[in-house]
Amino acid sequence: MGKRIVVLGGGFGGVQATVELEKRLGREAEIVLVSEENFLLFTPLLPQIASSNINPRHIVQAIRDIRGNKRFTFRRDIVRAIDPAARRVTLCEGSLDYDVLVIALGSRSEYYGTPGAAENTWDFKTLEDAVVLRERVLDLCEHADHTADAAARQALLTFAIVGGGYTGVELVAELSDLLFRYVVRRYRRIAPSEVRLLLLEAAPEILRTIAPRLKAHALRRLRVEGIAVRTGARVTRCTADSVEVNGSEIIPTATIVWSAGVRANSVVEALPGPHDRAGRAKVNAYLQLQDYPEVFVTGDSAAAASAPDAAQVAPLAMAQGELAAANVERLLRGAPLEEFRYSDKGMLVSLGMNYAVVSIGRLRFSGYFAWLFWNAVHLYKLVGLKKQLQVGMDWALGTIFPRDTSIVRRQRDCKICGPPER
Ligand SMILES: Cc1cc2nc3c(=O)[nH]c(=O)nc-3n(C[C@H](O)[C@H](O)[C@H](O)COP(=O)(O)OP(=O)(O)OC[C@H]3O[C@@H](n4cnc5c(N)ncnc54)[C@H](O)[C@@H]3O)c2cc1C
Repeated sequence: MGKRIVVLGGGFGGVQATVELEKRLGREAEIVLVSEENFLLFTPLLPQIASSNINPRHIVQAIRDIRGNKRFTFRRDIVRAIDPAARRVTLCEGSLDYDVLVIALGSRSEYYGTPGAAENTWDFKTLEDAVVLRERVLDLCEHADHTADAAARQALLTFAIVGGGYTGVELVAELSDLLFRYVVRRYRRIAPSEVRLLLLEAAPEILRTIAPRLKAHALRRLRVEGIAVRTGARVTRCTADSVEVNGSEIIPTATIVWSAGVRANSVVEALPGPHDRAGRAKVNAYLQLQDYPEVFVTGDSAAAASAPDAAQVAPLAMAQGELAAANVERLLRGAPLEEFRYSDKGMLVSLGMNYAVVSIGRLRFSGYFAWLFWNAVHLYKLVGLKKQLQVGMDWALGTIFPRDTSIVRRQRDCKICGPPER
């Protein structure tokens, strides 16, 4: 065959597609994986990076380790544009022609046109986002510890999380653990009553897709943990030092984290053919782009005709990556393609230390055993024994020793102080 198959994006969908393509066509085709990050990130554990519960490197696996002695080529580069008519991908460092293309470029934040949101909020999607947010939170606590002005202390110690989906909920619960269980013990001039954690959700309820009973349990738990959960609270403006709610209430805060919605990657939005409201490419049931049967789109980038409303989650991206690879083989061999079929696998939401809610089919429970179940499932899903051991050790040590509150960035790079006078 000797064709070149290019896969764009080294996340759940892209890595699954690449590994599957290797199995099916590794000896017959040239397979090239392109991604801007040289690792696969296990996003479900990202909130625990922000809360210092896990070491950042323990939830990623280097693509070159995943490759081992497989044949595919990896190129760390940024995709700038795709020209399906010319079958060419423009990269930061050159271009790449393809015979077949699999797109798995994920998503970015959707700000819904909220003034100031793109400029003044912290994203929470990448490993870097989580590492930077952790340092930000600790940095502000360092400042608050010696700031005398009450209003300034209040703004420094108010953290607003926008979006009550599972990402926002898991993040706010983790930050609550970090701040109330660890930080206030070490920063002696910060009283627990001064720390304010807000979860702002525009809809009338959080965790919209889970059963009402579990939702109620989750809400109660968050409130017990000291989190102010505000529903019907639409964020209407964000500035460097405040968040405006419902067009009238101004809450002073130095940190707003945006996890209120996702939009397709801009490269995907620029593809020809129809897109859904979130900018995802509308593909047919075989995951092919309209008018370009040699282009397959998967995961957060795709709205498949056979599952247009499926939640954007890792199992869906992996299932689509696997099917795209199988359909690439069928296409090259002239065989009939297979349609994408997907059944929802349920939802597990961690609410910080010792509590989670689980909803899988008819199995619905919450509390400590749900939390153990959450941990077991995520440890099992983590790629590679080394990473599983590392995360397991992080969790075990975290039950004995305090969390690490060290900040890597030097004070001179601090956003609040600015560079020191020379
Ligand atoms: C904080 C957080 C928590 C989550 N928790 C869960 C969870 O608990 N359970 C669950 O099932 N799902 C969870 N998700 C959702 C899940 O991570 C996504 O649905 C899934 O990753 C989508 O897979 P994908 O392959 O489409 O995209 P991604 O996994 O996002 O991969 C996209 C890849 O493309 C690369 N890329 C992007 N743009 C470019 C470019 N221009 N050039 C080169 N490379 C590029 C990115 O670096 C990345 O490697 C979570 C997501 C987040 C952000």
